[in-house]
Amino acid sequence: MKLDYEVIRADRTTIGITVERDRKVVVRAPRLASEQVVTAAVESKRFWIWQKLRDPHKYPDPAPHKEYVTGETFLYLGQHHALTLTRGQSGAVRLVGKQFEMAGADRRNGDVLFRSWYLAEAKEKLRPRIAAFAAEMGVSYSRIWVRDLKYRWGSCTPGGTLSFNWRIIQAPMIVVDYLIAHELAHVLEPNHSQDFWNIVAVHVPAWERARNWLKQNGGLLEW
Ligand SMILES: [Zn+2]
Repeated sequence: MKLDYEVIRADRTTIGITVERDRKVVVRAPRLASEQVVTAAVESKRFWIWQKLRDPHKYPDPAPHKEYVTGETFLYLGQHHALTLTRGQSGAVRLVGKQFEMAGADRRNGDVLFRSWYLAEAKEKLRPRIAAFAAEMGVSYSRIWVRDLKYRWGSCTPGGTLSFNWRIIQAPMIVVDYLIAHELAHVLEPNHSQDFWNIVAVHVPAWERARNWLKQNGGLLEW
């Protein structure tokens, strides 16, 4: 079968092959490496590449694009809420009872309006929860960012700056808690060692359920 890939030339001495989250195969090669050498490297890794491309968990299909039509559902804290388009113009998204509302006239800006709604909710919900987990775990941090992270749910720097992807607020609270405890545990233990998982398990006993939810549904959060 034909294998499509992109070759990026760089100042490096070895050939590196990665399968991106969007299933694109990227080959990073030394500037002077010949076509034959690059092709041979890809061929030798063909089986590994196909395995990566077929792995449904690690590389979930991205969720389809939103259309912003009445009845379309949006996830919030693990629940699906239907959208109702309203008359007039409001310039904002609202969650009213179990339904999202947005003015039909704002459909063109649906992406922007929903993202800013989720971002505001994520900031409001995450900050006190991070503070509570940090206190319980005896971990201190310097700052918290809630923002758009490409293909990551959260990250942590050695200086104790925590970043979380606003998209996680779409997931059930147990998943949010797991991701918070995960990043805070990295302040204590940078690697995914047994000690690391023990710390996570103490503070989020259902962490495996949360991690499985992410593996199976993570793609839904990435519209
Ligand atoms: Zn980690």
